[in-house]
Amino acid sequence: MPTNTDSTADSIYYANCNRNEIARAAASGAILLLPFGQTEQHGPHLPVGCDTFIAERAAAAAARECNNDPQVLVLPPVPYGYNPKSLQNWPSFRVRWEITAGYIADICTSAVEMGFSRIIIVSTHGPHGDVAKIAAREVFDRTGTAVVVSMPHALGASAFKSIRKSAIGGASHAGEYETSLMLHFGYPVDLSGMDGRDTVVHCNEWVAGDFINGSGKISWSTWGLQISETGVYGDPSPASKATGEAVFSAIVQEYVNLIRYVRDTELPPQTFPIYPRSW
Ligand SMILES: [Zn+2]
Repeated sequence: MPTNTDSTADSIYYANCNRNEIARAAASGAILLLPFGQTEQHGPHLPVGCDTFIAERAAAAAARECNNDPQVLVLPPVPYGYNPKSLQNWPSFRVRWEITAGYIADICTSAVEMGFSRIIIVSTHGPHGDVAKIAAREVFDRTGTAVVVSMPHALGASAFKSIRKSAIGGASHAGEYETSLMLHFGYPVDLSGMDGRDTVVHCNEWVAGDFINGSGKISWSTWGLQISETGVYGDPSPASKATGEAVFSAIVQEYVNLIRYVRDTELPPQTFPIYPRSW
């Protein structure tokens, strides 16, 4: 598992830098990536850190791939956050959404106050897409700096669609997509007894059901539409290391493209009044 202590010499990790290096990075326009995961059940077959592992690995691989063009620093990941109460059917952490959004907003606000103006949140956990967007709005109102919210599954969607083996509805929570990535990362995954019984059936003109499909015309939580028997939404049974490897490499390349787009985009100075934080 990659962590910020994997290598003390690995300069892509913010936590490995000293304060002078941080100040230089901010002054030279380095881009910050904030891996935003969750610690929650992912069916009987995947580790509970799945979302955090995907966020941190995608961020770290993209930072390395950029090879200082531009300089990218990976912040320590946020491994807890909001979950709907339905997750209490299994062991899962649940932090209130407003606490989670406030926490993300304060982390990003601090980074802006240190001089970073390009921040990309790398969010993997479904419900956190909305929480991260609220946090980004708050940071913008406070500082005039617009934070980017990104989701690896959206960046890897077209690559996954072209090789997926599950039917539509098979790649939401702990389904073929996440299971393939965990196989690629080398985690032990026991697929015996796993089948498609919790494949999402609500994939239609209104709801995408399968998060690789996007969000649909409306938002209607899968957890409210369909009861999961195994804690999975999707079909992990056709997952493979090869699918995980191909999708991960597409995600990393998309992040490199995104990072360079963000670097090359001129941000206008905001004209509304900005007040420093009072604390
Ligand atoms: Zn997940």
